Amino acid sequence: MRELCVEFRLLGSYDIAPPRGEAPPRESRQKKLDPGATTSAKNAATELPSSAKNWPKAARPSKPNGTVVHIRQVAVGGDSFIVVAGPCSVESRDQVIVTAQEVRARGAVLLRGGAFKPRTSPYAFQGLGWEGVELLAEAGRVTGLPTVSEVMSVDQVERMARSVDVLQIGARNMQNFDLLKAVGKTTTPVLLKRGLSASLDELLAAAEYILSEGNPQVILCERGIRTFETSTRNTLDLSAVPVLRERTHLPILVDPSHGVGVRRWIRPLARAAKAVGAHGILVEVHPNPPEAKSDAEQALTFDDFEQIMTELAQIPVYSS
Ligand code: PEP
Ligand code: MN
Repeated sequence: MRELCVEFRLLGSYDIAPPRGEAPPRESRQKKLDPGATTSAKNAATELPSSAKNWPKAARPSKPNGTVVHIRQVAVGGDSFIVVAGPCSVESRDQVIVTAQEVRARGAVLLRGGAFKPRTSPYAFQGLGWEGVELLAEAGRVTGLPTVSEVMSVDQVERMARSVDVLQIGARNMQNFDLLKAVGKTTTPVLLKRGLSASLDELLAAAEYILSEGNPQVILCERGIRTFETSTRNTLDLSAVPVLRERTHLPILVDPSHGVGVRRWIRPLARAAKAVGAHGILVEVHPNPPEAKSDAEQALTFDDFEQIMTELAQIPVYSS
């Protein structure tokens, strides 16, 4: 238009007429109710799906300013972007302490490490159990990093909550309702991973189980979902981030390691996670990836991790 006219005067505008019998599009209905309405995240946040009745405590309107989960000195949520790193499984004292020191030196603020491992095969490495938890806790003490580890059953919850700083609920347990209730009864922050084939609605309903038991410290984690695509281990659903930011006040992490399952594809998706508005990422790092006892294909070397941290520093923290 600029090339064709010297002046452009807007005399009025019309809604597109909906086909006979159909309601006008949602946006124009909204504008009639509130002529000042825009499509900004704040206004859109009030447009919750009807299923939000199942997760009132998780829904954005119950805490419009957002939840910040405090894990000792670390704040997850708000305007910060944090990095959780560590091995898939704790394998030995050396392995976990060296990894903790190296990731800390490169900017990780939380140390992860699995001790009870949900493995597809009963013959695969199942984790070191409580010995692994103690080694993770020791690595946390040595480096000053708060720790995250997966809790697989109700009877592990109490002891795990005494040993680590964050209880992880794995993707395979996202709808283990007894486990959700049990972690909801603790005062320990919970990292809730999205189920392999769970909708965002189901993820929020799972978070509601924890919140409704009285534990407000829940962090959500997008870690990829099952689709028809076989090139990647899962399909990392980055569109979950803006949707969740709109619908819930809970902080959202992205786990590109389990999302793609292939070392060299983690870096671009880590950058994308920050750009799209995640409150942080979770990645798996190992001193010698080919030797890793679980998830070797997706384990980052310390150099890979350093490169990711350097690239992330170039991306501004998303602000809505
Ligand atoms: C993990 O974080 O090591 C893990 C098993 O993740 P997920 O539950 O997402 O598969
Ligand atoms: Mn893993």
